[in-house]
Amino acid sequence: MTTILSAQPIVGPKTAILKEKAQRLKALGIIPKMRVIIVGENPASLVYVNIKEKTCKKIGCDFELLRLPEDVTRELFLSEVQKMNEDPSVHGCFVQLPVPPQLRDIDVTSLIAAQKDIDGFGVQSIVDMYKGKDPFFMPCTPKGILELIKNNDIELSGKNVTVIGRSLIVGKPISLLLQNRGATVTMCHSQTKNLEEHTRNSDIIISAVGSPKFLKQTHFKDNKSQVLIDVGISRDQSGMLAGDIDFEKVKDQVKAITPVPGGIGPLTVISLMENLINAAEKISKGK
Ligand code: NAD
Repeated sequence: MTTILSAQPIVGPKTAILKEKAQRLKALGIIPKMRVIIVGENPASLVYVNIKEKTCKKIGCDFELLRLPEDVTRELFLSEVQKMNEDPSVHGCFVQLPVPPQLRDIDVTSLIAAQKDIDGFGVQSIVDMYKGKDPFFMPCTPKGILELIKNNDIELSGKNVTVIGRSLIVGKPISLLLQNRGATVTMCHSQTKNLEEHTRNSDIIISAVGSPKFLKQTHFKDNKSQVLIDVGISRDQSGMLAGDIDFEKVKDQVKAITPVPGGIGPLTVISLMENLINAAEKISKGK
């Protein structure tokens, strides 16, 4: 039987723990607060922010959203980020990406104050991972992937892992974190030749491309030995949410596979909440 690597058995207990931690902070007079800046009307960004807001409220944290217009000036954008960084009531903050063209040459993730960088995209997190250390704020999707791997007793040391996609938010950080855990990592991307050669020769495949169902049966062995982790979320031709892997066709030939939706997505959100609570706890201890 193929194992379906669902988020729910992990997210349920984690939510209960985070609620309890938020209560304890409240008793000390601290309500963990997340603030998000969103620029423009990107529909996917609005959906993601809405999910984060709901999760914040469910756990007992405050959430503030600042919406800036698509044509916001650089000056106003930068001053709002600075205000967010300096506001002592805010424990964790970020700018929801992407930003419109007039802001694209700004290194947005580096603007966030290090002690509030709950997305884990800032310089301190990158340097830590590069040096072989787990950062205080681990980027949320890689943190969710590692949690899934740990909870399902999937061995990493000495295993061959192929990561498809080399973005700063998924592909690059997860490849470093896996190497730090003893995996032999192959990075694939849009210019990789013979992708199948890499995917078929791996124990674990992690895909973060964003192309619906582009990984087919031929990309994998059919001996139920491989573990597939699908980060991709996009819409297929019929408008349904789909991952990078053709789940229905592939699932019976592999050892374990994540569903989309219900796999890495919810783990990413709960990881963000963990980072927020950790940020608030750290501040409460005056560290
Ligand atoms: P991205 O969109 O920045 O880049 C996509 C990557 O895919 C690039 O590195 C590119 O080289 C690679 N690529 C493109 N075509 C390819 C091909 N034919 N073969 C191999 N590689 C190819 O990456 P991203 O921001 O990491 O997002 C990737 C996907 O993951 C998107 O669908 C996004 O929505 C999703 N995502 C999901 C979560 C989650 O919580 N589940 C979090 C972040 C991103």
